[in-house]
Amino acid sequence: MKPWMYLVLAALVIAFGVAVVVVSRRRAERSIEAPSRPPAAPSPEAPQRGGTAVLEPDIVEPEVVAPPATLRERMARARSAFAGAFTGILGRSGITSETWDELEEALLRADVGIGVTTGLLDGLRADVKERSITEPAELLDALQGEMRQRLAGADRTLHFEPDEDATDGFSPNVWLFVGVNGVGKTTTIGKVAEQQRVAGRSVLMAAGDTFRAAAAEQLTTWAERAEAELVRGNEGGDPSAVVFDAVERAAARRIDLVLADTAGRLHTKTNLMEELRKVRRVAEKGAGRVTEVLLVIDATTGQNGLAQAREFGDATQVTGVVLTKLDGSAKGGIVFAIEIELGLPVKLVGIGETIGDLVPFEPDEFVGALFDV
Ligand code: GDP
Repeated sequence: MKPWMYLVLAALVIAFGVAVVVVSRRRAERSIEAPSRPPAAPSPEAPQRGGTAVLEPDIVEPEVVAPPATLRERMARARSAFAGAFTGILGRSGITSETWDELEEALLRADVGIGVTTGLLDGLRADVKERSITEPAELLDALQGEMRQRLAGADRTLHFEPDEDATDGFSPNVWLFVGVNGVGKTTTIGKVAEQQRVAGRSVLMAAGDTFRAAAAEQLTTWAERAEAELVRGNEGGDPSAVVFDAVERAAARRIDLVLADTAGRLHTKTNLMEELRKVRRVAEKGAGRVTEVLLVIDATTGQNGLAQAREFGDATQVTGVVLTKLDGSAKGGIVFAIEIELGLPVKLVGIGETIGDLVPFEPDEFVGALFDV
């Protein structure tokens, strides 16, 4: 072979080698590529450019919806009143005299009240004996059972009587809200108005708290939020007159429900309870029917609330209790005192300051939340 032939042969061998390497690399690359998706069909909304559908990636923003607050979540402080005692009780190997002392102390600290605490613990002792309970965890279960049983059976519905036959004039339902200043009456009326509107009823608010300058203003704001009508009077005016006008207006406009705020204090020397009795009479003087008198009690005031409940209950024929500020209270035990000592059903509980922070009172959920440590 001539020397130039060696050169040509070498060049051919090198070219062949390079070709083999390139081809095998390409194959390897293709084999590790992710399987490609079939192209998405153009959506009708896909922007068209120059007659071509431009496929934009579908970006779906996650919907941020705050879940409604639950009683359990908002009862952290009430739960904490029991938590220490429960831990101590569960830490012992059996049921001792300290166990009973600790239970009693926890119930009193939570403002269950001495009478109801004694009753609950007597019932529990009988239960322990009858069922031969020896385990601390079983004891706490039995206490839950006692508590649930004592709250069971009450009528917690908000009474509303529809005017089926309004031929001789429409008769609105009237719900009166009573209670001392600052307990949350005005706020509760706003929340109830919203719930009733959502339930399909038309609502009118009566600003019957003419003592507090800001009360009517506050109610005006709530009326706007809850899309309710409002009747207000002059500051220092006669609360009964405001309620009377409100009922007449509701009757004329065929509004289902009047929510009437009342004063917790008065300008004049007139006795507050006398005044509330008058408000109630006047609310029924014309077309109205009082179907609920709701006593609003602040849960953070504990046993003081009970004294108020007694006084208002006697004067105004209270039909149910709204327990507000349970979210900030370590004194959830007041529920037992209200229900067992006074025989008044807790119908609603306030668990915050915004319009959705009012829930129906569910005894099972409430007791469960106290024990969920
Ligand atoms: P009124 O004087 O009885 O009409 O009481 P207000 O409605 O003016 O309420 C007094 C204060 O309690 C206000 O600051 C409310 O926002 C607050 N409040 C009412 N209900 C609740 C509740 O359920 N939880 C909390 N945390 N605050 C509440």
